[in-house]
Amino acid sequence: MPLITMKQIMADSLKKALDPSVDTKERYAVGAFNFSTIPEMVGIVEGAREVKSPVILMLSLGALKYIGSLELVAYTARGIARQYPEVPFCLHLDHATDLEMIKQAVVAGFTNVMIDASQEPYEDNVRKSKEIADFAHKHSPLGLNGCSVEAELGMLAGHEDNIHVSEEDAGKAYTDPELVADFVEKTGIDALAVAIGTAHGFYKAAPKIRFDLLEEIRRKTDTALVLHGGTGVPEDDFRKCVAMGMSKINVGTGLKKVYTDAVREAIKSLPESEYDPRKIVGPGRKAIAAEIASKSELFNCAGKAEAVLKSMY
Ligand SMILES: [Zn+2]
Repeated sequence: MPLITMKQIMADSLKKALDPSVDTKERYAVGAFNFSTIPEMVGIVEGAREVKSPVILMLSLGALKYIGSLELVAYTARGIARQYPEVPFCLHLDHATDLEMIKQAVVAGFTNVMIDASQEPYEDNVRKSKEIADFAHKHSPLGLNGCSVEAELGMLAGHEDNIHVSEEDAGKAYTDPELVADFVEKTGIDALAVAIGTAHGFYKAAPKIRFDLLEEIRRKTDTALVLHGGTGVPEDDFRKCVAMGMSKINVGTGLKKVYTDAVREAIKSLPESEYDPRKIVGPGRKAIAAEIASKSELFNCAGKAEAVLKSMY
């Protein structure tokens, strides 16, 4: 079953992140990519297949509003899983805040959900994240495969659907390493999104990642760590994050641009008499696949599909 939980898809990466005897060059993070249409979903999985990589498909609340149905996305993911059995992938709901809606996603068959109560007081963040972790671990219709949970501690600058954080506020709200172990233990989550200097959307200037914080956080917990705001982070910073034990890297904005640029180019190059949407959307899907293949190489997760599948059994 290639549609697996985020906990399963990151197990091998996490093992390598936590083992100090592992060469840092062996470490890798699984890429997580946003989509809002079916061709994008397929393009992401095709790109992962090209380089034998595991991959995470991410649905934002904005994309959900556009598509209109959690079930439609979950059924499509199951269909893709049958079509591409060699690609281990995870279907993830990103930055959700409404507890009832997150539970609906679990029941619909999402294999990871993110509860983002990071803007709320610490105790509320703990309570809500625990409620979702308890529910998701028990109520997934996928049985053993189940559904895992990501939560966030600290705040990322930028704009993510219904969440807006100014750079000034985010600067005050890096993830506090002293809270990490307590948060993970009290909530029972499977992955932690950390605020260490990245932001959502395009950067005006290259972000300053707090590697000192990452090092401290990695020491305080055995849970998988997630980097949000991957668009525009310098390649060497990605490599350093991976070497220091990051297990998942989110890329949204950059991928939208790759898709739209390819579609725009296709429209420009076609005669006006051409009306077949496949000739317009098709190049977008191909461009996404190429971008996923390239990002998988950068995150060092290309070639790791087999290791991920093996780690599950
Ligand atoms: Zn994010």
